[in-house]
Amino acid sequence: MTNSNIPKILVLPGDGIGPEIVNEAVKVIGCLREHGVTLELQNGLIGGAAYDETHSPLPAETIAQAEACDAVLLGAVGGPQYDGVERHLRPEQGLLDIRAELNLFANLRPALLYAQLASASSLKPELVSDLDLLIVRELTGGIYFGQPRAQEVQNNIRRAYNTMIYDENEIRRIAHVAFAAAQKRDKRLCSVDKANVLEVSLLWREVVEEVHKEYSDVELSHMYVDNAAMQLVRAPKQFDVMVTSNLFGDILSDAAAMLTGSIGMLPSASLNENNKGMYEPIHGSAPDIAGKNIANPLATILSVAMMLRYSLNHAVEADKIEQAVVMTLQQGMRTQDISDSGNNAVSTQEMGDAVVKNLQQLMSA
Ligand code: NAD
Repeated sequence: MTNSNIPKILVLPGDGIGPEIVNEAVKVIGCLREHGVTLELQNGLIGGAAYDETHSPLPAETIAQAEACDAVLLGAVGGPQYDGVERHLRPEQGLLDIRAELNLFANLRPALLYAQLASASSLKPELVSDLDLLIVRELTGGIYFGQPRAQEVQNNIRRAYNTMIYDENEIRRIAHVAFAAAQKRDKRLCSVDKANVLEVSLLWREVVEEVHKEYSDVELSHMYVDNAAMQLVRAPKQFDVMVTSNLFGDILSDAAAMLTGSIGMLPSASLNENNKGMYEPIHGSAPDIAGKNIANPLATILSVAMMLRYSLNHAVEADKIEQAVVMTLQQGMRTQDISDSGNNAVSTQEMGDAVVKNLQQLMSA
């Protein structure tokens, strides 16, 4: 926590549907505050919205605000109006930079499929109904950052290479995050690697085994990444928590997210070593539906639940938000993206209001 004992949340609505969905998430936070949970909110600029005002997608003031806060809630960034902007000033660069500034090395991506939405998946409902798995992906190391890397010409032949490299400290810290997350869930962790081929995976496996000694209540298994990809689409409910490197996690977490078929439902967290985190829906700024009050705010609302659980030590309230979302779905509320026919879909605001109403009931109980 920061100096004052009241946890501070920096709210970065961003672009496109960002402000609309964040608005609903802020209503949910407001409901908690009305019921005695002390949280302080601050607003900041990121992405295209920041570029328009300051000519930078991540102004120094936003970095200072983020550093002074306990958690960041982000909507989304980007939009076609910025397509012509230089790469280092593009909205998406603001996102990459804030992750680096805060050293957010651990990416937590749950893939949750509420039974009520099972028909949205491309898999058979019985394979995915009630799916609840969490992928923990290392986010600041591995082949995306390893040196040396280059594209070059040698003897008139073009070649290119990257380096997949992890040191034991990088592996240890992500393993701790994954084991700790598993402890809060079903206490099963599957570490995914390619130890039959890669030295870096052998070290990964060794270090994960070492860290396991500190979490004897968690059952650990190992799986090769090719098998993990297959198992994810064959029988995804066998997994509780998966931990893996940057490259493997990038691919597996997208596959897992798409098992649920509903991009508007999935939250994410990116954490640093002190459990400070940035929380955001996995989807983008959806410029095609921005300003229409039809975006699904549930991924952002569920990101607030993750924030309470992982950064703010309010697990009970996190559970209640998730419960309020389930109740809302049980009541048949659907935004357009998750409604079967698109008919009778509710608006962004109506969905947010319904969650708040259910949460009020749960908080008063
Ligand atoms: P997108 O996720 O914004 O949209 C993909 C599709 O899903 C669209 O049809 C959109 O309408 C729909 N969708 C997304 N979120 C929804 C929601 N909450 N409710 C209902 N429907 C929803 O991906 P894209 O179209 O490839 O990218 C649009 C912009 O967002 C680009 O500028 C991209 O760079 C940016 N982007 C930002 C992030 C981020 O901020 N983390 C992530 C991905 C893409």
